[in-house]
Amino acid sequence: MQTSIPAGSYLVDPREIEFLLFEQLQIQKEFFGKKPFSPKLDQKLALELLSQAYRFAQKLGEAYQSADQEECRLRADGHVEIPSKFFSLWAEYISQWGVDPLRKKLGKADGERIEPLMPNVLSQVILEMFMGANPSFMTYGGFTIPAAKLIAANGTEEQKDIFLDNLISNKWDACFCATEKDAGSDITAVRTRAVGHQDQVYSIQGEKIYISAGMHSLTSNTIYFVLGQSRTARSDGYHLSCYLVPRFWWDSSAQQWINNNVECVKVEEKMGLKGCANTHLVFGRKGETKAFALGNKQNVGLLQLIPLMSEARVGTALFGVGIASSAYLHSVRFARQRVQGRLIREAFNTQNERVPIIAHGDVQRMLLDMKSRVEGCRLLVSMLCMEASRVQMMQAGPEVDRERLARSKRLVATLTPIVKAYVSDEAWRICETAIQVHGGIGYLKDLPIEQYARDVKILSIWEGTNYIQAQDLLRDKLGYGLNSLSMKYLNEDFKEFIQSKDCFPRFHTLFERVQLAWRMTEDVVLWIGKLVKEGQLTESTQFFTRCLFVIGTTCVAWKLLEAACTAQKGYENAESSEDMSFYEGKVKSAEYFIFNLLPSVECYHGVILDSKHSIFEIDSNQFNQTNRKFGA
Ligand SMILES: Cc1cc2nc3c(=O)[nH]c(=O)nc-3n(C[C@H](O)[C@H](O)[C@H](O)COP(=O)(O)OP(=O)(O)OC[C@H]3O[C@@H](n4cnc5c(N)ncnc54)[C@H](O)[C@@H]3O)c2cc1C
Repeated sequence: MQTSIPAGSYLVDPREIEFLLFEQLQIQKEFFGKKPFSPKLDQKLALELLSQAYRFAQKLGEAYQSADQEECRLRADGHVEIPSKFFSLWAEYISQWGVDPLRKKLGKADGERIEPLMPNVLSQVILEMFMGANPSFMTYGGFTIPAAKLIAANGTEEQKDIFLDNLISNKWDACFCATEKDAGSDITAVRTRAVGHQDQVYSIQGEKIYISAGMHSLTSNTIYFVLGQSRTARSDGYHLSCYLVPRFWWDSSAQQWINNNVECVKVEEKMGLKGCANTHLVFGRKGETKAFALGNKQNVGLLQLIPLMSEARVGTALFGVGIASSAYLHSVRFARQRVQGRLIREAFNTQNERVPIIAHGDVQRMLLDMKSRVEGCRLLVSMLCMEASRVQMMQAGPEVDRERLARSKRLVATLTPIVKAYVSDEAWRICETAIQVHGGIGYLKDLPIEQYARDVKILSIWEGTNYIQAQDLLRDKLGYGLNSLSMKYLNEDFKEFIQSKDCFPRFHTLFERVQLAWRMTEDVVLWIGKLVKEGQLTESTQFFTRCLFVIGTTCVAWKLLEAACTAQKGYENAESSEDMSFYEGKVKSAEYFIFNLLPSVECYHGVILDSKHSIFEIDSNQFNQTNRKFGA
């Protein structure tokens, strides 16, 4: 079948991004011209940056399918081959989008060298484009800046001297190495250990698996942030240390870089993300692997790594929105071009004109489903990134309002597991729907659609599976809903939004539905607390994933309704029919989501509050067996 859609191309609707940043969130009013952001940053410059980012994203998109076909390979000499186009893309990426080139574009800002020049919410959409265009490529160096921030915050002066400039300039990159054969979700089972210690230098022995972008030749050195056990670690397994392991070690007596005995013994073959080298690494087998302990402190690694892991979780959500958004935009384009069948009321007569599939009710349903979910997920991430931008701004202010700062930080922490898990699950569903909209060609490799689904699935698994996120949310962030400060803050923000209800009589029913969902969400969280108080902690975990989904869905409905209100105002001043359609489309997203998808909150509310019946006990033997014989 012929299609005029260029294969592999990454799609964005710039109007959508402009609406989000400058109409709904109004970032120009809240952040531009304020410290610590670049004094040069205004709406015009932001738009220029976005256009440049879009152009680079399109280049990344051109290598999307070829990288999938080339994959990564381990050669017999231990060298890892990665997709060939990544080398020129990397050179362009670091020369345009590294910290230093960005400083050149934006001018000097106050503070440290890694100080943010733009609000987090603006970098959010730029990263969304890059990650959506070529997620495999973006895993290379993906941890570098968060790692530099960790060293800046925790490192010794010597460690800062050795690592900071090299990481910030992207000469070196960083990888996060936690997972081992027996230590996935259960990090307490980590067995990699520091075996020797001399002058603040440790010897590391152990193996790490699945490590993303773990070996390549894009940079001259790679710093592995390795979770390991020290000799003084307590036996509870939580007192792990973060060791900095350079792939090449500076031998000061020989005055040269020497191999630090980090071996790649396998490159995993996997379902998607094939341009990313997922490596099985072995430390200290062929010879000594030397390392520093971050800040020369041991047994506090998990605590030190929290900011890096949190950034990675938000990055996961951005990756999900980027891919899901392109999958949706491809689907709209395809549905406008693909002619198939007649409208149902005219189908009896073959003389009637055949129509593009976008005219069919069920295709419209799928497209609207994708549109509202994509916009909703992006808004959920923005909710977090707006708070993160406020944190950036407050921390740079002359007088810090400690209460407001603590509030914003808490909201960022609470929203982190929500965006990671909610967006990754939604992105997978959106990509699955995109295949359905495309029909047979969606299943073929001609278009990037099937690859989107394969690439996006990892997001619910890595950086802590989505259940681990739900556990983090319910236990650590919401304290099982008992006197939760996070719920109080979310509630305050929600109530503030609801006050605008009377200004939008057209949306009265939508407001009522969202208010009802909010009440149910609060009920659900409190119910978990009740179960825990009654001694049913283990049983209550059966609801954690659904509880996170309920909170995420209600927040998305709230933010989509907010977008509809902004669009209503925009519509009244719209200057073109194209703009009017755009604004009406925003209203349709909110209406569709609230009337078609938000009711799932009511359903789960019913299930969770009916815990007497819905909690189940099942013995492992009651699941099916595959070792039986017929007739036995
Ligand atoms: C492509 C890819 C890239 C990766 N990149 C990296 C990387 O760069 N660095 C790194 O360190 N790791 C990386 N990982 C590893 C990844 O983080 C782990 O796969 C993930 O944490 C899950 O661990 P696991 O695979 O051992 O699953 P398991 O922990 O075995 O989980 C299996 C299932 O059991 C559930 N489960 C486990 N424990 C519990 C519990 N206590 N309660 C309820 N349910 C539970 C899980 O939710 C999941 O559904 C990567 C993995 C992949 C596939």
